[in-house]
Amino acid sequence: MTRVKTVAFSRHRTNVFFHILTRCNLSCRHCYINPAQHGKNTLTLKTIKAWLAAFSINSDSKNLIFLGGEPTLHPELAAAVKYAHGLGFGSITIDTNGYLFGDILAKVSPAEVDYFSFSLDGATRETNDRIRGAGAYETCLDGIQRTIQQGFKTSLIYTISSSNIHELEMMIPLLDRLGVDRFFIQVIGLRGKSALSPNATDSDQLPQVSRSQWLATVPRVAAMIAQRGIAVTYPKVFLTADDNFECAGRVADNYFVFPNGRVYRCPLCEDFPIHSLCFQENSLVPTAKLNEQDFFQLDIPEGCVMNKMIQPQNIDYDENGVPAYKIACCLLKEEIEGG
Ligand code: SF4
Ligand code: SF4
Repeated sequence: MTRVKTVAFSRHRTNVFFHILTRCNLSCRHCYINPAQHGKNTLTLKTIKAWLAAFSINSDSKNLIFLGGEPTLHPELAAAVKYAHGLGFGSITIDTNGYLFGDILAKVSPAEVDYFSFSLDGATRETNDRIRGAGAYETCLDGIQRTIQQGFKTSLIYTISSSNIHELEMMIPLLDRLGVDRFFIQVIGLRGKSALSPNATDSDQLPQVSRSQWLATVPRVAAMIAQRGIAVTYPKVFLTADDNFECAGRVADNYFVFPNGRVYRCPLCEDFPIHSLCFQENSLVPTAKLNEQDFFQLDIPEGCVMNKMIQPQNIDYDENGVPAYKIACCLLKEEIEGG
């Protein structure tokens, strides 16, 4: 038996997505990192500690996710993890492309890191490496195996595009073999390069999937994977006219922190200088208006305001100009417990 649950936004849980650098050894075709907007610098350990401390009140109700770029390229990631652990964050995750630089598995313990979260975008080497670069597939699988052998829990993130949706079902035996605990399905084009260039050709971006492709494949395969005992999460993406729409920017508590000091509350805003918070002298302070918060307040029949502004091609209208469906907040998830 599996149970599908829409994960409502909660004020009682905070997620801090902390990009400690933007440098990466890979150049994935759908990468959302934008150094012009996010910075090219690598934060010092001193700054990381100061910024973590800014989130330390009620830290046991906060999930902390270390990201990059590739966070294991940061020479002091282990020290940052230990400091965060000492501050008492509710959970600590390291997102990685699987290269696990700096001997990170030997420098942190399962008591300090709740999850290592890997990214794989194809069930086969050919598909994954076409998206993420030569060698990424084998390295990621090897990284997952080594991480599990060291006693850590693992997640796997699969970002769906029309270049790899046909391999989603093929992930089932691979997930069985690997033994990961959680599987996250993401959708291409919510942010980053692919969101910004909707008319680009497949040579420079990965095309989004249509609504019908998404609905025909993702919920079905997600349920099949959950039946194997793996917890599965995927974005809701499409709402019917009757579904309630909520903007996480209004009701939830997420922070997307970048090394140039910008702090966003919405990942779709990250390509624009409309962050609502920033670090100044290591204090988290609000920015001047207009900023993302002003967009969150707008009610439109299409649902997510940012989606409507940056990728209006995602919405279909009837002959009267009424949207056929709403686009959900990208932070609204469906969760299926494994079992
Ligand atoms: S591994 Fe992540 S940060 Fe690096 S290029 Fe790929 S998507 Fe971007
Ligand atoms: S993705 Fe859309 S709905 Fe969600 S926080 Fe951003 S603007 Fe709001």
